[in-house]
Amino acid sequence: MDCIFCKIANKEINSEIVSEDDNFVVFKDINPKAPVHLLIVPKIHIGPVNSLVLKDKETISGIILKAKEIAEKVGVAENGYRLIFNVGKDAGMEVNHLHLHLLAGKPLQF
Ligand code: AMP
Ligand code: ZN
Repeated sequence: MDCIFCKIANKEINSEIVSEDDNFVVFKDINPKAPVHLLIVPKIHIGPVNSLVLKDKETISGIILKAKEIAEKVGVAENGYRLIFNVGKDAGMEVNHLHLHLLAGKPLQF
């Protein structure tokens, strides 16, 4: 499948990986919108939020728990951070592989 985040997870495309385990890869967004802008991505291909079903529930809970762990690891948990799932065109979603944005490092504006 021609999916950029599958290719990053498979190391077919380089990225700045900050953490990885059996289920998730976490890397720096190539076009950061905040001093800390990470993407938390399941290694298996799974579609965006509007395609999720009940059998995806372990991935869904896992991605949020991974975000919490990474926020602590990169030192932003105390000051705070924002977690974002973009869904569909009005949200500007570009990549059709589930990913959670973690933004931090300054007071964030909407
Ligand atoms: P979204 O708009 O939620 O689909 O977000 C996709 C994000 O992936 C954007 O913030 C892009 O900057 C980011 N992105 C796209 N390609 C790459 C890449 N090769 N490495 C890192 N981040 C990427
Ligand atoms: Zn994919």
